Amino acid sequence: MRIHEFQAKKLLGEFGVPVPNSRTATTPEEAKAAAEELGKPVVVKAQIHAGGRGKGGGVKMADTPEEAEQVAGDIIGMTLVTHQTGEAGSLVRRVIVEEQTQIERELYLSILIDNAAGGVTIIGSASGGMEIEEVASTNPEAIKRVAIEPAAGFQPYAGREIAFALGLDGDLLRPAVKLIGNLYECFIAKDASLIEINPLVVTKAGSLLAIDAKVTFDDNALFRHDDIAAMRDPDEEDPLEVEALELGIGGYVRLDGNIGCVVNGAGLAMSTMDSIMLAGGEPANFLDIGTVNDVERVVNAFRILTADDTVQAVLINIFGGMAKVDIIAQGVVDAHKELDIKVPVIVRLDGTNLEEGERILSESGLPVIRASDLGEAAAKAVEAAG
Ligand code: GDP
Ligand code: MN
Repeated sequence: MRIHEFQAKKLLGEFGVPVPNSRTATTPEEAKAAAEELGKPVVVKAQIHAGGRGKGGGVKMADTPEEAEQVAGDIIGMTLVTHQTGEAGSLVRRVIVEEQTQIERELYLSILIDNAAGGVTIIGSASGGMEIEEVASTNPEAIKRVAIEPAAGFQPYAGREIAFALGLDGDLLRPAVKLIGNLYECFIAKDASLIEINPLVVTKAGSLLAIDAKVTFDDNALFRHDDIAAMRDPDEEDPLEVEALELGIGGYVRLDGNIGCVVNGAGLAMSTMDSIMLAGGEPANFLDIGTVNDVERVVNAFRILTADDTVQAVLINIFGGMAKVDIIAQGVVDAHKELDIKVPVIVRLDGTNLEEGERILSESGLPVIRASDLGEAAAKAVEAAG
């Protein structure tokens, strides 16, 4: 789960990371009032869950409250297109109004779960402000990575290695190590998967300040962080993914193709999507209903799929282990009774209570297309989807 910059800065501030004074505003009038309260020149920034806002026109300076009102009027309500939003862009509903910083140098600092290293890695670069992917491809030696030994946790020497790579020595060394340690503490305490500060700046006054902040959390740990879960902004998420979550289906991800997939288990989801691609098609989603033991869950899965008009065929691929095939079959039958299903449905079932499931489907007389293995199911789904 992602959060907005203003939420990330509040969180980081609680962990002792220096951030500028700021307010948020949803109207130009509020932005003007915020600038008046701050009593200094401000920067007004669009709050969307994507980076690259500066280049897209979503970050503007304002020296007076009147100017803040004016630029907020330009930004609020705009559809901001950045390299991270895709062509459709993202509607701006809110801005952060914060004290302008006199910047001496822009640096890059992040902490993330590094799957290749199998642990937490801290990344720093003196080339801040620009996309780290760009620095990585044009000037990879400008990026310093320090892996954290999980058993030992964060040690000051790791902070010093990063600080030196950022050119933070002398009077800035101690605050830099402290800042990096605080960031690590926040990362672990809140089960984050990424904290990125780009840029972290050295101000003209000679102190460190996080000018931008992006934080992503591990969805699987949200159950133990009510404060973080409460920061979810459904406006920034795919409406069908939000609905799926509300229906208790956590494993739903929308993709670009036209074949809806209902599976149980992430591994089966992967192999189902691979089989569809191999058969020349493209999945419209990844819908993992997990271990289903109630019929309503299957009906809810259909509810999500039928609300998505890019879905031209539905492929149900279930291996009943803990889940039972007869429950799935009954769910398919009930879904056809309760919902208006216009697209072809391809069913491949195996495992526990298979005979009972087969009986339910054949006695229902529904026009579902049957397949006995995954390859056959994928080929039939691709054909049915056209
Ligand atoms: P992003 O484009 O979405 O990553 O938004 P950022 O918050 O990182 O802002 C983009 C750029 O705007 C930064 O890299 C800075 O160069 C500039 N910027 C943002 N805030 C300030 C500020 O307070 N003072 C100055 N001088 N520049 C700023
Ligand atoms: Mn940035």
